Amino acid sequence: MIFSMRSAVLAWAFATAVCGADLRAVDGLRWYKGNTHAHTLWSDGDAAPEVVADWYKEHGYHFLCLSDHNVYLGGERWVPVAADQYLTPDRVKAIQQRFGEGWVSLDQKGDRLKMRLKTFEELQAHFDEPGKFLMVSAEEVTSKVVHVNAVNNRGFIKPAQAFGNKPLRLILAENFDAIEAHGKENGVPILAHLNHPNWDQGVTAEDIVSVGGERFFEIYNGHAGVRNWGDRSQHKQSTDRLWDIILAIRLSTSADRPLYGMGTDDSHDYYEQRIGLCNSGRGWVQVLAKDLSPGALIAAMQSGQFYASSGVTLERIADDGKSLSVGIHGEAGVTHTTHFIGTRKGFDATARPVLDPAGNPVPNVTQVYSEDIGEVLFETKDNPAVYAFTGDELYVRAKVVSDKPQPNPHAEGDLETAWTQPARPY
Ligand SMILES: [Zn+2]
Ligand SMILES: [Zn+2]
Repeated sequence: MIFSMRSAVLAWAFATAVCGADLRAVDGLRWYKGNTHAHTLWSDGDAAPEVVADWYKEHGYHFLCLSDHNVYLGGERWVPVAADQYLTPDRVKAIQQRFGEGWVSLDQKGDRLKMRLKTFEELQAHFDEPGKFLMVSAEEVTSKVVHVNAVNNRGFIKPAQAFGNKPLRLILAENFDAIEAHGKENGVPILAHLNHPNWDQGVTAEDIVSVGGERFFEIYNGHAGVRNWGDRSQHKQSTDRLWDIILAIRLSTSADRPLYGMGTDDSHDYYEQRIGLCNSGRGWVQVLAKDLSPGALIAAMQSGQFYASSGVTLERIADDGKSLSVGIHGEAGVTHTTHFIGTRKGFDATARPVLDPAGNPVPNVTQVYSEDIGEVLFETKDNPAVYAFTGDELYVRAKVVSDKPQPNPHAEGDLETAWTQPARPY
């Protein structure tokens, strides 16, 4: 008994942002902006990796993960150059103009031309600048619809096999275990985040609850097909709703299992920008870390010292056990509304399956829970926005919504938003 109480205390101490944090850029700490989810010609992105890295570095990001599907950006990989390929002769010319003639390795055999893709190490050597920009290795470990990003891997991580009716939660658990084991084997800090739970068939809140080690998921993903706000026709609830269901169930049974929300781009399309394409610049994280290194960034994120954004910048997130306060970076002519969303202890935890018109349960969709979960406890336009805990909250999180539309949103009408990690009274 003493032991289990002790571990609960240690776990809360580990999750500092959930319990007594003051996140702001003082005492050597800085906010670092990063995207942990982007694709290149190494899998199904339409641009060479240097084109993608260049975009992020030029647009004020501090770190970037190129997270191609089921591949490590190492070894020799040649891709065709042709007018009907992603890599056209004109795009190769543009790369040569930007990086120099000698940068590009081409191989011409007969009328077939190929270009060698830069490896992670080559990209790192070119783009990394201490304190300014950092490439962090990654892989989108992909098993059918279950996609989990491994951040700071040291090689290829084999995805779990997905066949027949193998339950998605088992696939999810196997991918998490594989990523964690890879980090241990290589002696490196590694971070795993579950991607776009509402994409395609999707992953349910109950699936995520069941995977104990799962600490991070994408509250916001900039891909055009991910249904961040849900989809009634497919019985998909919003990622905000999934987050609250998972937090309520997990934190009511075990205080040391918070789930943190990530913002990412999941960009694939780099040569044309519009709604309907998967472009860069839509979602990111701001991490409060002591330096710009994979170890410091991952340690900060594992402690919840970050927030997700699709446009809103926060300056300070403070929680002293009595209140949760959010300082927002103001912008002339822009109004921010902060929604403090939470679930109280003793909430109604009953759930019922979604039924089809014939009255049969719809498989593989999140169940319907009571409105006790994810209540809007308080809403304000004040800056800083302050919520005073009443003491009976399991957790409270802030969602700051701007009245400014996102310039190139994942879906029509999206407003710039930021999401803090959950906090709780103590
Ligand atoms: Zn994916
Ligand atoms: Zn992806």
